[in-house]
Amino acid sequence: MLDKLGSALKKATNKIAKAIFVDKNIIEEITKDLQRALISADVNVHLVKEITDKIKREASDEKIKGIEKREHLIKLLHDTILEIIGGEKKELILDKKQTKIMLLGLYGAGKTTAAGKLALYYNKRGKKTAVIGLDVHRPAAADQLEQNCKKINIPCFINKKEKNPIKIWNEYKKELDKYDIIIIDTAGRHSLDKELVSEIKTLNKAINPSHKILAIQADIGQAAKQQASEFQKALDINGVIITRMDSTAKAGGALTACYETNAPVYFIGTGEKAIDLEVFNPESFISRILGMGDLESLMEKVQTAVDKETQKKLKKNLEQGKFTLRDLQSQLQSMSGMGNLSKLAEMIPGFSSAKAKLPENIIGTQEEKIKKWNHIINSMTQEEIENPEILEKQTTRLGRIAKGAGCNTSDIRQLLKQYKMIKEFAKSGQDMDMSGGMMSQKQMMKLAKKFGKKMKF
Ligand code: GDP
Ligand code: MG
Repeated sequence: MLDKLGSALKKATNKIAKAIFVDKNIIEEITKDLQRALISADVNVHLVKEITDKIKREASDEKIKGIEKREHLIKLLHDTILEIIGGEKKELILDKKQTKIMLLGLYGAGKTTAAGKLALYYNKRGKKTAVIGLDVHRPAAADQLEQNCKKINIPCFINKKEKNPIKIWNEYKKELDKYDIIIIDTAGRHSLDKELVSEIKTLNKAINPSHKILAIQADIGQAAKQQASEFQKALDINGVIITRMDSTAKAGGALTACYETNAPVYFIGTGEKAIDLEVFNPESFISRILGMGDLESLMEKVQTAVDKETQKKLKKNLEQGKFTLRDLQSQLQSMSGMGNLSKLAEMIPGFSSAKAKLPENIIGTQEEKIKKWNHIINSMTQEEIENPEILEKQTTRLGRIAKGAGCNTSDIRQLLKQYKMIKEFAKSGQDMDMSGGMMSQKQMMKLAKKFGKKMKF
């Protein structure tokens, strides 16, 4: 399912994450990769151009600089793809008393299979569900539905002899009253011809379903757009189920086409069995084609929950070569709950790109350490915070602080060492080209090396 698009997105995300500079070349490279992947997923070329133009335009925004630029680009990529496959998750709303869901679509779209799938889905969720078969054209239609329902133990109402679907509906209408959800399977045609339009219009009038769901097979790709809009014109359909997502690489075409016609995709079919149905959630769909781990790291990068004001102040202090224990503490506080030292690294201008070069154990989770440090700084006097050097001269102070913070004096020494190192880093940062929050690659490599060696926890 959209494997190529997934791997292209993954590749792009990695490229951005690893890039030292987000410059025109990188943006160009990424949009090219993306274009190729979208086209191979059968997304309409005009739409592809629209998407990549938008990414290029927004990514080149000169107002966004440095670290934020990379986060911005990753988020932009993610959000743009999310939007074209449907944006926010839409839910099929059930009626309070009884919900009638009528399935529509051409031959082989997957209506009959979907009828069983939906029935099982709602039945599992405690709804009393029944299926009624109104496909009177295909001789085997009623048998197929009956067999599908038998497998999943769902009541199935059919009449193999009757050729008028309205009559079948009326025959069972009373009996169906006791169900919470009724799934209505209808007949298809080779195309949406006059006969089919008139049939579904008549059925719609007699049944008055709250949901008219169009089944579309994913393999038709972009052609889904025409189909969805034709059905919409004929009967004002209010949702889509895309079937056979498992058997094609073209699903991008069907998904984006539906989005263009404003018909929300509620479900996707991912196999022939009744359990092969999924609620369509664009966000988790992307996370799956990206690979779960990737999305988590991606969102972590993007949603770095740092207090903007504190960050501004820190940046200013750093630029002036100042970095007090107080600054360190406010950084620690803003990180509590996140517990990831890499966050601290990201807040130091120029450092975030060096992060990629640091060994994992250094930037690993440091929740405990951060808590301890917080306690230590809280146990210091104002004088000690402003002038930590006195702690080196008057070591008896260490014992007092350790007692207050519930730790060893070695923990305090470690914090002081760390603080000195960050301060040193900040000082050397004065030489950095801070215009874009970035420094030269040479400078950065030098510092990363130094930092990587010294930074022991
Ligand atoms: P209908 O003519 O619209 O009622 O379509 P059917 O429900 O009879 O489905 C047509 C064919 O597609 C059947 O062979 C189904 O087994 C198959 N099919 C339906 N949904 C899926 C799906 O999600 N995945 C796969 N692989 N096959 C499906
Ligand atoms: Mg059928």
